[in-house]
Amino acid sequence: MLYKDLSYWEQETLLKPADFLILGAGLTGLHTSIQLKNKYPSKRIIILERGPFSIGASTRNAGFACFGSISEILDDLRQSSEEEVYNLILDRYNGLQKTRELIGDAAFDFQHKGSHEIFNSGNEKDLKAALEYLPHANTQLYKYLGIKNVFKKTDFLDFGFTNQVAAIANNYEGQLHSGKLYAALWAMALQLGVGIYGGSDAIEMEITETGIKVYTKTGMVFSAEQLIITTNAFASDLLPELEIVATRGQVLLTEKMPDLKMKGIFHYDKGYYYWRDLDKRILLGGARNTDFEGEQTHDLNLNEKVQKALEHFLFETIIPYHPDVKIEMRWSGIMAMGPQKNPIIKRINDRVVVAARMGGMGVALSSVVAEKAVKLLEK
Ligand SMILES: Cc1cc2nc3c(=O)[nH]c(=O)nc-3n(C[C@H](O)[C@H](O)[C@H](O)COP(=O)(O)OP(=O)(O)OC[C@H]3O[C@@H](n4cnc5c(N)ncnc54)[C@H](O)[C@@H]3O)c2cc1C
Repeated sequence: MLYKDLSYWEQETLLKPADFLILGAGLTGLHTSIQLKNKYPSKRIIILERGPFSIGASTRNAGFACFGSISEILDDLRQSSEEEVYNLILDRYNGLQKTRELIGDAAFDFQHKGSHEIFNSGNEKDLKAALEYLPHANTQLYKYLGIKNVFKKTDFLDFGFTNQVAAIANNYEGQLHSGKLYAALWAMALQLGVGIYGGSDAIEMEITETGIKVYTKTGMVFSAEQLIITTNAFASDLLPELEIVATRGQVLLTEKMPDLKMKGIFHYDKGYYYWRDLDKRILLGGARNTDFEGEQTHDLNLNEKVQKALEHFLFETIIPYHPDVKIEMRWSGIMAMGPQKNPIIKRINDRVVVAARMGGMGVALSSVVAEKAVKLLEK
């Protein structure tokens, strides 16, 4: 629907020019608004979100508070320098601490249960490479994060996985409730006085003599001094020059298994499969390596091939002892990938800053990315 004849009241209040307009109410947009409001309490800050709430990755992820398994680090080192890879890990690590300080662990069910990277008889080559790299990874993590012996080899986990030959444990990772995290940040932004306008799909922007205007699908026009684009995988809709590949991620969730012993978060095959316990259920995601091309999309529909691969992995490897367990839910979200893993945080022109391309581990990262975007706005 187009809203053409706006009332005097709407124009005088809700559509009044903002100091900062943020596009996208995902975790990055919410953190950006909170940090801006804390820094400039009297400034008018509005977030435009095309859905009723975020419909991207922030409310559709797996809730891992992670910074990367050894195999993922080795994989990342093929595209990026060692400094870039470890600085990104540092940002994820610091981001998690910032979020914990901001809202408190209880608000988002943060649990420090640790993680394991699992190797079975199908990926012994990866295990060899990971074990060879482990001492160096620990040295680098101590240098960058200041914590010792992050990764430790474990030979046996009593969780019933098929053919498991070894695991690498990381006690510094954890898990969280993505819905509660999102709701807590949303409430905090509103409480600080941020306006969050759902149903506002931005389709065009225009720089004027006095600021910037954003046009939405409904025909409404919003203006501001500064615009911050935090639309992640969708940022290249407005800024086609950005190197962003929209990538679908899919998950499934089992019914409850009262006898489930497995706990914590698990990575497998360079992070292409990941799972965790969630309220006596298993949440399993990934398998996009079974259809790389098909998964490069903005479309939220499920891909049967990927879902079948997830199911196969669930019953063959994770719970071979529970062949009748039902899958209760399946969903997908859209991630933003690119030639490098680092997010894009940059000033586009005098009026526009972008903070996007959050990759597959952007939950913890979002607070630090927001901080860097806010710093750019000072200049
Ligand atoms: C299946 C899956 C599992 C994942 N698991 C994990 C995990 O366990 N741990 C982890 O750290 N990370 C995980 N991630 C990644 C993580 O969720 C993201 O990196 C993070 O949420 C990105 O947040 P964001 O706010 O930058 O982007 P998003 O959450 O994508 O938010 C962008 C927002 O912009 C809005 N938008 C888009 N276009 C427009 C427009 N034109 N106008 C207005 N609004 C617009 C969208 O509706 C959306 O709300 C996962 C992602 C997926 C998909």
